[in-house]
Amino acid sequence: MYSKKLFLFDFDGVIVDGMKEYWHSSLLAFEKFLNTPNIVIDQNLHKQVSSTFKEMRPWVKYGWEMLIIVHEIIKVESPLNNDNKIDFQNKYHQNCQKILFDNSWAAEDLQKYLNEARQYQIDQNFDNWIKLHSPFDEVINFIEKIKKEKIETGIITTKGRVFAAKILEKLNILPELIFGYESGTKVEIASRLSKEYEIIGFLEDRKKTLIDLKQNTLTKDIPCFLADWGYLKDIDRINLPYEIKLLKLESLEELLAI
Ligand SMILES: [Mg+2]
Repeated sequence: MYSKKLFLFDFDGVIVDGMKEYWHSSLLAFEKFLNTPNIVIDQNLHKQVSSTFKEMRPWVKYGWEMLIIVHEIIKVESPLNNDNKIDFQNKYHQNCQKILFDNSWAAEDLQKYLNEARQYQIDQNFDNWIKLHSPFDEVINFIEKIKKEKIETGIITTKGRVFAAKILEKLNILPELIFGYESGTKVEIASRLSKEYEIIGFLEDRKKTLIDLKQNTLTKDIPCFLADWGYLKDIDRINLPYEIKLLKLESLEELLAI
């Protein structure tokens, strides 16, 4: 029925671990572009990623939310830390909205400042920015293998497209398709692609995204894999619905048998 086969990948947490970059770029966004009275940025903050930030990362869907988390961690009064993070996580979306409101911020502006912080680093020292990302070699090898099987690669990320493309190029991965947040939701993008391609897999570390795919008529038959090595909440691994499979990094090769 279809002449072309396609395998879809999320980017952050699936192809690369960008934890250092998220932390550094968010701090930089505040330093360079978003002066706010509640925080003081000590240069030592850049040296190590906050453990609270790492613990919060599985809740993040869009980049701008990372600025909210960083702001809460570094703010002077009653900061977010490992003692109160559970309360924040339990009402994650409400908390993000409240912080936007309390600071008179718009999500689009925060995203813009994050993008500017990234572009600033790319302009200043591209190689240093790239070094903040650690690729998962097994995934890179897997992408190379499917290419030999004439399966096309599509990357759908909630990052800006241009940033994912720059990192991929440096890693020598040249996917046929790359989509960023500018192209719509992952379900919308996959729905459009499903008319043209046989989509043989969707590998993602955000469980909710895979559930959304499974609940959509056009994308429900796509085999979905949750990346065990990504930014997962502990509960994500339990009771996966709709035949979503938890995939270990070392089991990636087995997918070639599908
Ligand atoms: Mg991800």
